[in-house]
Amino acid sequence: MLVSELKPFEDILEYLDGEKNVFLVGCKGCAEACQTGGEAQVLEMKQKLEEEEKAITGYTIIDFACEKALVASKLRGHWSEVMDADSLLVMSCGIGVQATSAVIDKVVHPACNTISLGGAVGTWPGSERCRQCGDCVLDLTAGICPLTACTKGLLNGPCGGAKDGKCEFEPEVRDCGWHLIYERLKKLGQLDKMREIAPLKDRSKMQPPKHLRSTIMWALEQEEREVAPR
Ligand code: SF4
Ligand code: SF4
Repeated sequence: MLVSELKPFEDILEYLDGEKNVFLVGCKGCAEACQTGGEAQVLEMKQKLEEEEKAITGYTIIDFACEKALVASKLRGHWSEVMDADSLLVMSCGIGVQATSAVIDKVVHPACNTISLGGAVGTWPGSERCRQCGDCVLDLTAGICPLTACTKGLLNGPCGGAKDGKCEFEPEVRDCGWHLIYERLKKLGQLDKMREIAPLKDRSKMQPPKHLRSTIMWALEQEEREVAPR
């Protein structure tokens, strides 16, 4: 799930400065769930832009705007409306914007900002996050992930900014991840683990391992690269 929020309307108008005709693209996936790119938001955007004297040549809502084949197929169904537009305004995460841009030789503007979650959530989303680092250190950290619980992703203890158990970034709402780890280790009688140094992260392990690159997704992408090199 990618989380997005609509950009301020003034920013969108600035992108569209000098352009009259616009085609709108929404997304029924994450963007609809975030209420940034579902049909209701696309129609609202259409109305607001028309009030600013923009001509909306048409719109479409794609099941998953991150899937280039779906984007291309949907746009083909609106070909003349797309061709009549000076640009496309894409109401989705950054991946949907990139996917749209990849399948059409037209100016594409983003309508949303994609918000970092600091790592992936589980299928049943909760507050825990995993950055899929490929070398889990939860054993050292009492089951709290330092890469995601600490705002800086520090691996071996806190920075100097924590105060009263709160993170220096957003002390009003955010606990210091390393304070949480310390407290949990203390409760478990494992404070000696604070002295253990976690090995440096091998960032290459944050990429899919070779044996997983033969999954259907990787195979399809590889084939796409070989058939249509860009
Ligand atoms: S240490 Fe790595 S594998 Fe373990 S929870 Fe954190 S990011 Fe995920
Ligand atoms: S205050 Fe705590 S959570 Fe925030 S960056 Fe420093 S160590 Fe990480």
